[in-house]
Amino acid sequence: MPKTIIVSNRLPVKIQENEGQYQLLPSEGGLATGLGSIYKQGDNVWIGWPGQAIDDDKKKQVAEQLKELSLVPVYLTTDDIEEYYEGFSNSVLWPVFHYYASTYTTYKPSNWEYYRLVNECFKDAVLSVAEPNDTIWIHDYQLLLLPELIRRERPDVSIGFFLHIPFPSHEMFRLIPWRAELLNGMLGADLVGFHTFDDVRHFLSSVSRILPTPISSNIITCQERYVVAEAFPMGIDDKKYEEMARSEDVALQIQQIKETFKETKIILSVDRLDYSKGILQRLQALELLLQDNPEYIGKITLYMVVVPSRDKVPQYMELRNQIDKKVGNINALYRTLDWAPVNYFYRSVPFETLASLYASADVCLVSPMRDGMNLVSKEYVASRVNDDGVLILSEMAGASRELIDAILVNPNNVIQVKDAIIQALNMPLEEQNTRMRQMRQIVSKFNVSHWVKIFMDRLDEVKFMQRSLQTRHVGGATQQSIINRYRNTNKRLIFLDYDGTLVDFKPNVNQATPDAELYEILNDLLADPANHLVLISGRKHENLGDWFGNTNIYLIAEHGAWFKQPGMEWHKVGGLSTNWKPEISDILEKYIDRTPGSFIEEKTYSLVWHYRKAQNGLGELRANELMNTLKFLATDKGLQLLPGDKVVEVKNMEINKGKAALTLVDESDYDFIMALGDDLTDEDTFKALPDSATTIKVGTGASAAKFFLRNPDEVRSLLKALAVSTTVNQE
Ligand code: UDP
Repeated sequence: MPKTIIVSNRLPVKIQENEGQYQLLPSEGGLATGLGSIYKQGDNVWIGWPGQAIDDDKKKQVAEQLKELSLVPVYLTTDDIEEYYEGFSNSVLWPVFHYYASTYTTYKPSNWEYYRLVNECFKDAVLSVAEPNDTIWIHDYQLLLLPELIRRERPDVSIGFFLHIPFPSHEMFRLIPWRAELLNGMLGADLVGFHTFDDVRHFLSSVSRILPTPISSNIITCQERYVVAEAFPMGIDDKKYEEMARSEDVALQIQQIKETFKETKIILSVDRLDYSKGILQRLQALELLLQDNPEYIGKITLYMVVVPSRDKVPQYMELRNQIDKKVGNINALYRTLDWAPVNYFYRSVPFETLASLYASADVCLVSPMRDGMNLVSKEYVASRVNDDGVLILSEMAGASRELIDAILVNPNNVIQVKDAIIQALNMPLEEQNTRMRQMRQIVSKFNVSHWVKIFMDRLDEVKFMQRSLQTRHVGGATQQSIINRYRNTNKRLIFLDYDGTLVDFKPNVNQATPDAELYEILNDLLADPANHLVLISGRKHENLGDWFGNTNIYLIAEHGAWFKQPGMEWHKVGGLSTNWKPEISDILEKYIDRTPGSFIEEKTYSLVWHYRKAQNGLGELRANELMNTLKFLATDKGLQLLPGDKVVEVKNMEINKGKAALTLVDESDYDFIMALGDDLTDEDTFKALPDSATTIKVGTGASAAKFFLRNPDEVRSLLKALAVSTTVNQE
């Protein structure tokens, strides 16, 4: 029975040491609750670090205790924790991914070395339990290399990866010396999940700029596999908060809070100690409010819970000191005998207390400078069973994409945050209800079980898509069956596109000249009198003439505008207009002026705007703009727009490779027809040919072709194998 393996840096467990004995307490964080439905079933397991160093002689015993909870430990040494966890994970990846990289960020090679080694340890732990058809779901930034490490050893398993923190823009990500290794590590997964669509965009942009892998919308082609990147906003266990808010224990605590604070309105904030949470800026906003609007003195209080975290790291210690100082200053300035503007708690609070705070707070102020998702905002919403209360939410938190009925603020804009607090304090109940109801619906629908389900379903779909792609790939049995058909036929018509099919793309169109190997392959095919080869290309006829004019190949140039039979002159398809050229040319010229590195190529019935040498990204942007500009004009003038590989071609609608191919197919009774091509223009050929034809797309994008090959090298191998198959036959 295939199983599911969850992997994260920390296991969902707390270990308490009592007179040399370890006691294990499951910790029910959001992730543990969400994944509980998975890892507790059957043979499924969760692999991770138990959260503290365990004495050597107790490791076996702890592993056995963990096994009863379906958990498998990865034991880390003190050096591992310092270099991999506190070093690379928390002092490099965390700040860079939260846009806090600075000239002071140190990229220590030893940190990286440990990061690699610890990811290897996790790999060993996974491999010790993984079997070929298992599903592995890896979590978060501490394990970015793990998907690829596992993939190498178990090519067939399904691997999902989810990043719980933001993925930064390429400008930040590229600062990391080991950026390519990190991306390759992540791409070992089949499905890479993020909280928001912005994270997906940033990831795809980094992949496209740093690695040579082709990307089409959100699908990355990594050699054998499609890897899909997608947004799955994580939810919470909403029912747990709702039930808690209605429970008797909490009702009692709510009563106590009410008695303590009476008429004072409570503004609640709950965060881990972290510079990304915007705690100091929040205090500034409160200070400004008390200064500018003294009528609120004595009427409101900021109930601020800061949960200790990483407080041995100097930067965090410093932040804690700054918060202490700021809270002290505000309180010193404004407090009265029976009132303090800030009630500050530097500790974690029991779940019941948290639930009663959520249920009692008039306003919840969540203002991180950057946050992957932010669960506190969702927990507040889930706890508001009476549909009242106001959420102020930073637009820099992933949750702001879903909770659009919150008062959204830019946390850097202290004045805006202050105004938002005033708006929240004065919001009519009816408006509170309307906004809260909308948000509660979202939190409830997109809860953590939904998140787990849609991620797992999508992973299955991606795996299915990969498998169907594999069956269409020409290799092994598929190649053999094509060869068998080829050998058993006597009159064959073979259409070959040139660029991207027989040769790779080059930065300069004139550099893609045929090489000796290509001539040899074509000659070997031509040596068999049963073969009729057709080179069908978008290139200028002069080009094709220079290269193949003296061979026995039938040449079709400029998508069918020109044709040449072996031993004859070139002929042009007649009666087509070129009156449209000056007007379109003027437009293309404007794009050249605005896009350094781009240029126009003129063909008989078409104009081509090339942008292969333009800045990465800018070319694509302009190509889209150009397509939009020309869209209506082209239809009016009977022209077709063809976006290709780093080109946009504008040509007469009447000309297309499909029509050109058909004229040859109709001429005679071929018993084997094959076509190979890589771009949109070749799709016309694939569609025009009869069903019995063997159509092969070069590249893995969507296509009307029956099969695909990955690149010109694979095309050449197939053609060689075909040529050899009949010579062997004859011998
Ligand atoms: N939380 C906690 N103990 C506390 C206060 C809060 O465990 O004393 C929880 C809170 O309920 C929430 C999590 O900590 O689920 C914080 O998650 P969030 O996404 O807001 O921020 P993160 O700490 O993951 O950056």
